[in-house]
Amino acid sequence: MAKFELRLIEVINETHDTKTFRFSLENARMDLLPGHFIMINKMLDGKLVRRAYSISSSPLEKRFIDLTIKRVENGVFSNYMFDNAQAGDIFGIDGPYGKFVYKDSDDDVLLLGAGCGAAPLRAILKYILEKKLDINVILLHSCRTPDDLLFRDELLKLEKENKNFRYAATLTRVKGDEWKGCIGRISREMVEENVKNKDNTLFFVSGHVKFGNAMMEVLDELGVDKGKVKEEVF
Ligand SMILES: Cc1cc2nc3c(=O)[nH]c(=O)nc-3n(C[C@H](O)[C@H](O)[C@H](O)COP(=O)(O)OP(=O)(O)OC[C@H]3O[C@@H](n4cnc5c(N)ncnc54)[C@H](O)[C@@H]3O)c2cc1C
Repeated sequence: MAKFELRLIEVINETHDTKTFRFSLENARMDLLPGHFIMINKMLDGKLVRRAYSISSSPLEKRFIDLTIKRVENGVFSNYMFDNAQAGDIFGIDGPYGKFVYKDSDDDVLLLGAGCGAAPLRAILKYILEKKLDINVILLHSCRTPDDLLFRDELLKLEKENKNFRYAATLTRVKGDEWKGCIGRISREMVEENVKNKDNTLFFVSGHVKFGNAMMEVLDELGVDKGKVKEEVF
């Protein structure tokens, strides 16, 4: 396991409760695969606080890594990052870790995410598109409200620029006619519609535990081989 001291170089506002923290890799060489997570630590009030975060940037990016962190009510580390972290601050980081990784293959890819679960999916997506892999990739993203649509502008831009990428968001809490897209959770029908051939598709499921369980049930019902599915829940 490698340990690094990384400098925070930029804080990017994503949504009302989510920010992306960009750390310089100027003095570090990390051997990353898309989907990896790292452990980050900082002394807070005399205690070493250490948390896991997925890397949301592409591993082809050698200048920095991005962590996309959602503010958790009463959460120690996420609130510290949200309210106090500034460019120039130094953090201890170790890793990379995890089995939720994409490795080049001829299979198409279906990314199923809820909320901040889109973080590692963004890394996988960007890697596939930047490497110009000759496969189709679809991202279905479930969020609560229009204000929670993480990475929305970037994903729409990537969809416009890449014929092999399709993005659809579905919202679970919508008022009136504020949203013209899909409504409700990611359903079995939605997954089925987006899979051409389940035997030639890799599935990446990322989000909270309930979402992970629901998606695993759907994939099971559709007869997807468990060997084709990877899950990250937090
Ligand atoms: C592999 C992996 C990848 C992850 N990737 C991401 C990511 O990309 N983005 C992201 O935002 N998160 C990610 N997480 C989650 C992240 O690690 C943290 O768990 C999250 O940010 C909350 O940390 P915190 O310190 O803010 O909250 P904590 O202080 O750990 O608290 C978490 C919750 O527990 C409650 N709590 C804490 N202590 C108590 C107590 N004594 N009694 C009752 N309730 C309590 C808090 O109120 C809060 O609701 C990932 C987790 C894993 C395991």
